[in-house]
Amino acid sequence: MLRTTIAGSLPKPAWLAEPEALWAPWRLAGDALIQGQRDAALVWIKTLEAAGIDTVGEGEQFRDHFVHGFLRKIGGIDWNRMTPMGIRADRYTAEVPTVTGALSRNGSVHGAEARFARAHTDHKLKFTLPGPMTICDTIADAHYGKRADMAMAFAALLNEEARELEAIGVDVIQFDEPAFNVFMDEVKDWGIAALHRAIEGLSCTTAVHICYGYGIEANIAWKKTLGSEWRQYEEIFPALNESRIGQVSLECANSKVPLSLIGLLKDKEVMVGAIDVASLDIETPEQVAATIRGALEFVDPERMLPCTNCGMAPLPRRVAEGKIAALGAGARLMRKELGGG
Ligand code: ZN
Repeated sequence: MLRTTIAGSLPKPAWLAEPEALWAPWRLAGDALIQGQRDAALVWIKTLEAAGIDTVGEGEQFRDHFVHGFLRKIGGIDWNRMTPMGIRADRYTAEVPTVTGALSRNGSVHGAEARFARAHTDHKLKFTLPGPMTICDTIADAHYGKRADMAMAFAALLNEEARELEAIGVDVIQFDEPAFNVFMDEVKDWGIAALHRAIEGLSCTTAVHICYGYGIEANIAWKKTLGSEWRQYEEIFPALNESRIGQVSLECANSKVPLSLIGLLKDKEVMVGAIDVASLDIETPEQVAATIRGALEFVDPERMLPCTNCGMAPLPRRVAEGKIAALGAGARLMRKELGGG
């Protein structure tokens, strides 16, 4: 019970990329870069194992950004045609590449990385991919015309990739969909259909991570506009509970999400965010345990997976290490309290 995991991304070591920055350029190149990424992945896999985290990952050490890392190997995208775009309903603006032709996957994107991670841990292994809706909110379209159509095209490619990851031995394939908390109507119209296309034919565990974003300034400012209760999940959880996705995440640590919304996910495993990624303060194990305890009112411990609110890529490395340790220790405290192992 209370099997622990993390949302996905972790900081790059300073020798690999500039710390505490998103889209930080690599500090290595060529073979040295690949070796550096592998070393960094190994550091995090072993750090997670040592903290007692049950389902581990490589901390996204092989990609410069959680969306663009996947897109870089996809055909039909013009990286020289950068378009300024309002992201997440104009929460912030970014220069994004442009889809100029039919999308294609011309070979494995993350296969070698997953194989490396699989070879270095006996724990359950999670691998994250960007969700189709979030991809479409992070790239400009000059070809498909309709977002839903472009999302379905991406979903087909994600499905090819996911099948390969499953064959390599990945236990949990998670799609990151922070856009689900912004475009709630579209989630019901086509977002879940696109996710279903992405998981078609998989027999491994599938998950969707939906969050209020990294602890960057634009997200912190946005959260201030959301009022005293964050109820975005309420609009999409009933549809997600009906979906074929296995696990659904939500932010619980230091968030204004009413924990009762967990009750909308009766048929799912629930990843409960018990680590605040927007704060440099490292939680104590007791604080993590208190968040888990609160969530246990609405989900039984067999269906709950204590997790981080979101990825920790922009955090200082020492802070992320501390938070991982606190997550493991807090879950152990609660297991003891519940009389389990
Ligand atoms: Zn997130």
